[in-house]
Amino acid sequence: MQKGKIFVVGFGPGDREHITKRAVDALQQSDHIMGYKTYVELIEHLVTAKTIVSTGMTEEVSRAQEAVKQAEAGHIVSVISSGDSGVYGMAGLVYEVLIEKGWTEATGIEVEVVPGISAINSCASLLGAPVMHDSCTISLSDHLTPWTVIEKRIEAAAMADFVIAFYNPKSGRRTRQIVEAQRILLKYRSPGTPVGLVKAAYRDTQDIILTTLSEMLEHDIGMLTTVVVGNSSTFFYDNKIITPRGYQRKYTLGEEKQILKPHQRLKKEAEPWALDQETGEAKSGYEKIVAVENKVSKADVSSLELANEALSLVQQEHKEANPFLVQQQQESIFEFAVSPGVANKMITPQQMITLAEVVGERGTMEYTPDHRLVIKVPSNNPQQLVAIVEQTGLIVQPVGDVVIVKACDFCYGEKAESIPYAEKIMETLGGIKMPKELHVGINGCGMACYRAVFDDIGIVYRKKKFDLFIGSKPVGRTAHAAQPVVEGLAPEQLIPLLTDIIADYQENAHPNERFFKYFKRVKKILNFEHVDMTCKIKVEEAPCGD
Ligand code: SAH
Repeated sequence: MQKGKIFVVGFGPGDREHITKRAVDALQQSDHIMGYKTYVELIEHLVTAKTIVSTGMTEEVSRAQEAVKQAEAGHIVSVISSGDSGVYGMAGLVYEVLIEKGWTEATGIEVEVVPGISAINSCASLLGAPVMHDSCTISLSDHLTPWTVIEKRIEAAAMADFVIAFYNPKSGRRTRQIVEAQRILLKYRSPGTPVGLVKAAYRDTQDIILTTLSEMLEHDIGMLTTVVVGNSSTFFYDNKIITPRGYQRKYTLGEEKQILKPHQRLKKEAEPWALDQETGEAKSGYEKIVAVENKVSKADVSSLELANEALSLVQQEHKEANPFLVQQQQESIFEFAVSPGVANKMITPQQMITLAEVVGERGTMEYTPDHRLVIKVPSNNPQQLVAIVEQTGLIVQPVGDVVIVKACDFCYGEKAESIPYAEKIMETLGGIKMPKELHVGINGCGMACYRAVFDDIGIVYRKKKFDLFIGSKPVGRTAHAAQPVVEGLAPEQLIPLLTDIIADYQENAHPNERFFKYFKRVKKILNFEHVDMTCKIKVEEAPCGD
């Protein structure tokens, strides 16, 4: 007699396109196909099996037993599950029935589990890329699993910041479970955590809802919904839910935390949490900052520091009550730039000492062509760092795509007349967010020895008035100076004019479009016509590395 075979087939979300070839082959080879009624209907058109046995949801055990019986009688049988048959599907059950009968691979019928696309994957694909990082599936069905166990798993997964796909979230009779799940999650995750509700993925009745942890229950959730809850880094973008590959974020003054761009991640400095390769220690990160705080703030305690101290005491108490709560806090890299002043180029030893303490062993301090030191330091308490640095008299500015103001030293202060204007420009325009970083250079005399005319916007003070230059191309083999657009501008007109130019660029440039490119493209900023200053002989393009 021919030896029978059982295929345990996962047919994916339910449409023709997302079933594997092996699954179709298995179904087509089978004499009998057994499965839950709705599932059988979904694959019926693909198969020629002699009998198709559709059973109710609760008849899983008898379905598995029947399949084994048929296979033992020499038939080829497919037992089907939606998604993957090994994920809350029939695979385990078929094996259990076989094991009960003393089955082994060597002596018994052949068994082949055919993998399929599980709901966590099909639903994730429709939402964007919410799974991406460490994730888990939790079934909220407490028919075969005690609720106390499920509850514990939700708690553990929430606490450990897993992305979670909830299967069987709700049915006609089971409505409390998802409410409880939300309550537990909210202990560890913010109410705004992105949540995706995908109903009947890749089927005719498909429905996708993007919502948040706090609002998810206001939407329809049913038997055919998978609820995907993001981790603490997950974000919304253009109607999608994205979980970044890594955790690190950076941020600067006045900005929400930014996820690092992919190329910025795999740097030692961007991974302050990593296990130290030499010592084997996992670093906590706060120690250094706390040490600085203690040292600097005791003498002259500002109200901000008092408030922060109070907050950390409260958090400490909270931590003792629930030791897991603060585990969610990931360190982020706080970036900012410091300089001794607009005109002043002198840094004092005390400023250097404070900076060194703030930067600590795990931060970095980089001297840049903008006459600034860019500080990157792991911290979740930026205000405190800024307060410490500002106490020393250093100017703190944001970094990134912002207005960066640089001035000459005014011949060490000898040509001091225009310094107040330079300071005013720094104060009003420095740090404003731009499509791309925008350099404003100020020179205190017509020598322009700090090369303001090679900045995006150059300002030269001469004969108690200002000359204005815009649109230099400061880099590359086709570099050129900015074009002069105004000579002899009255001081009181300077800031309004700069503000208008910057506003024009800010409002109308494409993201990442440099100022000179913008000027060249639009041909006119305010009433200043663009003049082509590019090199007249043909120069080969030579990007970085060439
Ligand atoms: N074996 C299946 C899971 C069966 S449990 C798999 O791997 O996907 C049933 C649960 O799966 C449903 O309650 C729902 O949460 C999820 N599910 C199955 N198919 C789905 C689909 N097409 N769209 C959304 N969720 C689905």
